[in-house]
Amino acid sequence: MCIGALHPQTARGQAKARVLVIGGGVGGATAAKYLALGSEALAVTLVEPKAQYTTCFFSNLYLAGLRSLESLTHGYETLEQRYGVKVVHDSVTAIDPEAKNVSLEGGAKLSYDRVVLAPGIGFKVGAIDGYDDAATQIMPHAWTAGPQTRILREQLESMEDGGVFVLVVPPDPFRCPPGPYERASLIAYYFKQYKPRAKILILDAKDSFFAQDVFEDGWNRHYPGMIEWLPGQFTGGIKAVDVKGRLVKTAGDTFKADVANVIPAQEAGRLAQQAHLVDQSGWCPIDPMTFESKLQPGIHVIGDAAKAGNMAKSAFASNSQAKVCAFAILAALTGSERFAPHLFNTCFTVLASDDAVTSAISYSADPETIKVNDFFLSKVGDNAWIRREAVHQADGWYAAFTHDIFG
Ligand SMILES: Cc1cc2nc3c(=O)[nH]c(=O)nc-3n(C[C@H](O)[C@H](O)[C@H](O)COP(=O)(O)OP(=O)(O)OC[C@H]3O[C@@H](n4cnc5c(N)ncnc54)[C@H](O)[C@@H]3O)c2cc1C
Repeated sequence: MCIGALHPQTARGQAKARVLVIGGGVGGATAAKYLALGSEALAVTLVEPKAQYTTCFFSNLYLAGLRSLESLTHGYETLEQRYGVKVVHDSVTAIDPEAKNVSLEGGAKLSYDRVVLAPGIGFKVGAIDGYDDAATQIMPHAWTAGPQTRILREQLESMEDGGVFVLVVPPDPFRCPPGPYERASLIAYYFKQYKPRAKILILDAKDSFFAQDVFEDGWNRHYPGMIEWLPGQFTGGIKAVDVKGRLVKTAGDTFKADVANVIPAQEAGRLAQQAHLVDQSGWCPIDPMTFESKLQPGIHVIGDAAKAGNMAKSAFASNSQAKVCAFAILAALTGSERFAPHLFNTCFTVLASDDAVTSAISYSADPETIKVNDFFLSKVGDNAWIRREAVHQADGWYAAFTHDIFG
């Protein structure tokens, strides 16, 4: 199925234009699919090191025992077999915008006409003293899904009843603004059933958070007395960890954890930093109409790594950006119709097995930035039936959304 006409430059008999998509997460896999679907005049290659991708979204349900990790794991076979995307399982180590090629860890080089880069997030090195790669094995961040999420679940399972779970929340901007608070809710859901004397302590870098009244209302109704949230003005920021002692140190205090989940400050994924695609903010400035980098022409950046105005760093937003980017590249390379960008974010956040809240945002984009256009968020006092229905809708959304990404 093709929706793009052949551009004179890529007419029959000429070599196909090569689009290289780096990163097979939400943004990259969506872009690869829609580029390949859009025109037979493109040769689309997706480079991703992992054979399978585990979604961060719904990984909090796994921590609660409500989903298996396998049910959140997806392969690339359909992208290859149905859509003709060439999938290369390797890591890109460098991008050369002059020579228009990329180097792979395995030693090969791949040439391109356009790149779509979707490397996700990286963690700011040294943001929390003592929190290095080795520390993630004892105090997992679980902010990329897979082995890290499994470690955290195993630690929660082996924690004694009456233990303290400490959740360290990073400063803005970070991947999935409601994510840490959904995590606290769903771990409380698990504790309520199996370790009812356990406590959850949230050490935040911020003084307020997304949908705070809705979360606090849910915590009071479902888990009274179990969750304590300490804002940045109280903690003074999270300064250090002592992995051996399972200690988390803030500006003025030291907290002893039985299980610690440390989510550090974030920036665009490492490759974006190495390829000089980031500005002082640590994120990649882009043209909102096409997601082409403002720093390197011919390279588009989508997903969490992009500096996309007021858009949240979310899977839904990444998928929406990927489509805008794919259509812009199709227009540039095949002469297909140009579309005005339509950007959206929808999110289901689960507070308990029968209580989910929803948010939906539409954005308007101009050549300078992306702004919120319209906004809906569940409210304190919503009818219980609506919240229960939202749990079922979330399940349906997950199935449809991952089908849209991976085929
Ligand atoms: C706990 C949690 C809950 C969440 N819940 C939701 C939710 O309910 N709804 C929602 O919309 N969003 C949610 N999110 C956010 C969502 O998961 C991310 O915003 C989304 O995954 C971002 O997509 P991405 O493509 O930018 O990055 P990713 O999905 O992280 O993909 C990046 C990919 O790039 C690859 N890569 C990195 N470097 C290289 C390289 N050098 N070469 C090749 N490949 C590379 C990686 O292997 C990875 O597969 C949640 C996140 C968390 C942590």
